[in-house]
Amino acid sequence: MKKQIITAFLCAALPICAAAQQNWKAVMRYDKQATKTALSERLSKYVTYDTTADANSGKVPSSKGQVSFGKVLAKELKRMGAKNVRISSTGIVTADIPATTTKPAPTLAFLAHMDTSPSSSGKNVVPQVHHKYKGGDIVINQAQNLRLTEYNSPQLLHARGHDIMTASGSTLLGADDKAGIAIIMTFADYLLGNTGIEHGPIKIAFTPDEEISTGIKTMDVAAFGADYAYTVDGGDLGETIVENFNGRSFTAVFNGERGVHAGSAMNSAFSDNLLMASDFHTLLPRHRRPETTSGKQGFILVKSIETEGNKTVVKGNIRAFTDEELAELTSTVEQAFKTVKALNPKNTGMELSFKDQYKNAKEMIPSQLIEILEQAMIAEEVTPKRVSARGGTDGVFLSFNGLPTADIFAGMFNLHSPLEYADIDIMEASLRTLISTVCNWAEQPKPQK
Ligand SMILES: [Zn+2]
Repeated sequence: MKKQIITAFLCAALPICAAAQQNWKAVMRYDKQATKTALSERLSKYVTYDTTADANSGKVPSSKGQVSFGKVLAKELKRMGAKNVRISSTGIVTADIPATTTKPAPTLAFLAHMDTSPSSSGKNVVPQVHHKYKGGDIVINQAQNLRLTEYNSPQLLHARGHDIMTASGSTLLGADDKAGIAIIMTFADYLLGNTGIEHGPIKIAFTPDEEISTGIKTMDVAAFGADYAYTVDGGDLGETIVENFNGRSFTAVFNGERGVHAGSAMNSAFSDNLLMASDFHTLLPRHRRPETTSGKQGFILVKSIETEGNKTVVKGNIRAFTDEELAELTSTVEQAFKTVKALNPKNTGMELSFKDQYKNAKEMIPSQLIEILEQAMIAEEVTPKRVSARGGTDGVFLSFNGLPTADIFAGMFNLHSPLEYADIDIMEASLRTLISTVCNWAEQPKPQK
C-alpha cells in the first residue's frame, strides 16, 4: 500500500512513460535465473584477473593486470556488438550502445572501476559460489577458520535464499568493483540483444585506479559526451549515494630548540617540538574522531606525525558533509593550534595551513538523476534508500567536471578484505534497476548545455 502511494507520487512528479517501463521484461523475455547465472559467470571470470592498484607506481593504470583486464572487457564488448569500443592511453575502456528511440533523449553513462584495493591481495583469487544461503555461517576457508557470520556480515540476515560469492582464503574477492562491471556488461549484452527496448544513447566506461584516486582524473569528461551518469559501485539493495564528504587537509608545523643539553634546559632556549605536536594531537576532541562519529557527523583525524631534529610536522584530515560543519571543525583545529602556541612560548616558529581536497557533490546532482533511478527501483520492487558516502567517490570528480553522477548499489559487502562477498541476487536487482532506469530516461528531454 505504502509502495503504491510513493509510486503514484513520483509518477505525478515526473512524466515517465509507464508503458516502456512495464514492458521491458516482456520485450526481452526476462529470465531471472539465467540472468543470475550470467552475472555469476562474468564475476567469477573477472575476479581471476589481478588488478590490484599500486599507489607507488606513479603511473595510470598503476598495474599491468588492469591493462590485460581492460583488453578482455573491450574484446567482450566488441563481441556483443557495442560501438566505438576504445581503450585510452591511461587504460579507460569506453563503448557506446546506440539509441533505439528516435526521441531526443539524454545520453546516459554507466561506469565501474577495474582496479581492486591494495589493502588485501588480489592475486590468484579463487571464487566460490554458496548457493541458496540458508542462514548461519558461510565457511570461506575451513583451515583458516575464515567465515561469514551474521555478526561480521549483518546483511546476511536479509540474504536467505540468495547466492553468495566469496573468495577462498587469503585474498579479497574483488567484487569491488567487478560486481559493478559484471552488472554493466550483462546490462549491455541485454540491451544490444533486445533492440525492442526503447532507450536513448548509452555510454559505458570502465576506469582504472579508483582505489588510489588517480584513474578518473585522467578522463576527458567533456569528450566522453554524456549528459548524466551512474557509477555502479555501491553496496546494499536499493542504496544510492547522493552525497559525499567535503574533504580538507591540514598541516601543522612545530619548530623547537632541542640543541640545548637536557641537563641544563631550565631557563634556557630549550623548547620541545615533540611536546608541541603531542599537545596538539591531544587537544583535538575525542568525540570528533572517525571511531566516535557516524552517519552525517564529520570528523578530524591526524594522519601522520613526523619529526626531524627541531621540526615536527603533523598532517591530518577534516571531513564534513556541510560547509558549516567543515568551518566549525576547521576552527577547532585552529583553536588547538593556538592553545599549543600559548603553552609553548619558546617555540622557534609554528605554522598551520589548510588545503581543500574535494567537495560534497550534492549541489551538482540534479534531483531528477536520483528520482528517475528510484522510480525504476520501485518498479522493480526495490525499496530506495539514499545514503551519504563517508569519503570521496569517482562520481565527485565527474559531477564537478560537468557530468552529474550518482552511485547505485551493486551487492558487494566487506570490501577490501578476505571476507568480501557479492550477493548475486542483489546484483540481479541492480541490473533490472538499470534497464528500467534507461527506459524511464528515454522519455526525458535532453538537457540544454
Ligand atoms: Zn569501489
